[in-house]
Amino acid sequence: MGWSRIATAALDTIIGDGCAACAMPGPPLCDACLHRMPVIGAAACARCGHPWPAPCEACAQCIAGLAIARQAVRYDPPVPEAMRALKDSRRRAVAHPLAALIARTVPRPPDGAVLVPVPLAPARMRERGFNQAALIARGLAGMWGLPMDDCLARGDGTPRQRGAGAARRRQQVAGAFTAPHPVPLHAVLVDDVVTTGATLAAAARALRSGGCARVGAVSLARVALAGVGTRVG
Ligand SMILES: [Zn+2]
Ligand SMILES: [Zn+2]
Repeated sequence: MGWSRIATAALDTIIGDGCAACAMPGPPLCDACLHRMPVIGAAACARCGHPWPAPCEACAQCIAGLAIARQAVRYDPPVPEAMRALKDSRRRAVAHPLAALIARTVPRPPDGAVLVPVPLAPARMRERGFNQAALIARGLAGMWGLPMDDCLARGDGTPRQRGAGAARRRQQVAGAFTAPHPVPLHAVLVDDVVTTGATLAAAARALRSGGCARVGAVSLARVALAGVGTRVG
C-alpha cells in the first residue's frame, strides 16, 4: 500500500461519514443528492439507453454486440462527484446507494441472466485496490436476486481513456478482454460510466467469443453526446 493510499484511507476514516456529493454529514449519498440525480427514465434509445430528448429506435450511439443496454442516470451533477468519491477517494460505501439507484430506475434483467462486472486493467486494480464495477454488480446481484460471475479478464496495456475520441477508444480497448473461464449463456455486463461504449463493446465481444449467446449491459451513468448521431428528419 503506497503512502497516498494510506493517506486517503486515513482521510476516509475521518470524513468518511457524509454525502459523497455535497459533504452533508450522514449517509454516503444524502436524500437531497439522491433526489437530484439526473435519472434517464424512458426518454432514451430503446436499445442502448442513450438519453435522447425523445425515444429513438435508430440511434447512432448504439453499442456493437449488445442486445440491450440501460443506464440509470446521465453523467451530470451530482453523479461525477459521487464517482470521484468512489473511485479517486476510494469510498467503497458509495457503491451501495449507487447500485440501489440502478436497481430502482433500470428494469431488472430476466431470470437466467448473470451479472458480469467489467474488469479493471491489472495496473488500475493495483492502484485503486478494488473494482468499482464489481462493487456495484455485487450490490445489484443482491437487490435483484441474480447471480454474479466475475468471468472476464482484462489485460494491461490499455491506457487511460479520458479525453480520447471514439475511434481511439475503440482501438485502446479492442482485444483488452478475454474470457478465460466458462461464460454464462445470458450475460449482463455491469459498469459504472458509459462514454463511447467502446469498453462495453470489447467486453461483449470477449463474452460472445467465449460462447455467450446474449449480452446486455447495465451501467450507472451515460455521458450524453449532445447532437452526435441525432437522426435527421
Ligand atoms: Zn448530498
Ligand atoms: Zn442507441
